[in-house]
Amino acid sequence: MELKGKNAIVTGAARGIGRGIALKLAAAGANVALVDLGSPADRALTYNLSAQTELNRTVEEVKGIGVKAIPILADVTRFADLERMASEVVAKLGAIDILVNNAGIIAFGPVSGLAEEAWDRVMAVNVKGQFLCAKACIPHMMKQSEGAIVNIASVAGKTGHGGISAYCASKFASVGFTQSLAEELGPANIRVNAVCPGYLRTAMWTDVLGPIVGVQYGMNREAAFDEFIARNTFLKREQTPADIGEAVVYLCQAENITGETINVAGGGELH
Ligand code: NAD
Repeated sequence: MELKGKNAIVTGAARGIGRGIALKLAAAGANVALVDLGSPADRALTYNLSAQTELNRTVEEVKGIGVKAIPILADVTRFADLERMASEVVAKLGAIDILVNNAGIIAFGPVSGLAEEAWDRVMAVNVKGQFLCAKACIPHMMKQSEGAIVNIASVAGKTGHGGISAYCASKFASVGFTQSLAEELGPANIRVNAVCPGYLRTAMWTDVLGPIVGVQYGMNREAAFDEFIARNTFLKREQTPADIGEAVVYLCQAENITGETINVAGGGELH
């Protein structure tokens, strides 16, 4: 699919990987609707999400590339927000060709100590959010002769790890959801794929996992991240939001790939 002039929705786009995806889609010529919560506090989490100012700043960066970009405040767990999101994109950009389900959160803790509220919120954002966004966008995407949905899963959706059970369960679910939706939408020429990012220095690492691995390794969080990368990747380097953005652009363009899950992990995950 040629991306120039196409219209894409990216959820969780204010910062981190979502920002990287929005910038790469824009560089490929797509207009982008950048969707985020606009309120940092989530009482089920131990770290802050993005503020509205971050979303607006990223929208300006995307516009600077020379495409149309609009901010949309929505919670991916609320279907009414997502119906409004889809209608607004069609009204302002003209159509929906691409949906990137990137919004995601993490909670840390052993199963015996993990709050039920944290489990529920991780599953709601990471799994139900991808379902609800697809449900809201598919009727609009069906109006075109082609389309692409990319779900951002994780290497944690391929191999489980202790301490992040809800996160791993949610990402395994995302991979399965991708395959189911790919079969459903194949006849409409809407391709559905997933990207499994490896290890990126975004809030999930710096604010949540870094301090924990730091204690395990007996190092500060920065040194612990570098050590983790050295131990767990073939290439001995971290991944970047731009790397994930490039994989998303490729999957949107690749006309004969659907139901696929690509690791972008420097050799950190092989399945
Ligand atoms: P991040 O916390 O920097 O960004 C996540 C964004 O999603 C934030 O802007 C946040 O405000 C938004 N968001 C959270 N809940 C939302 C909701 N209910 N509705 C709308 N927006 C919401 O994290 P990131 O590292 O950029 O993560 C992006 C995606 O990549 C997630 O799905 C994550 O699971 C996945 N991932 C990250 C890594 C990593 O190493 N950072 C690795 C593998 C997968």
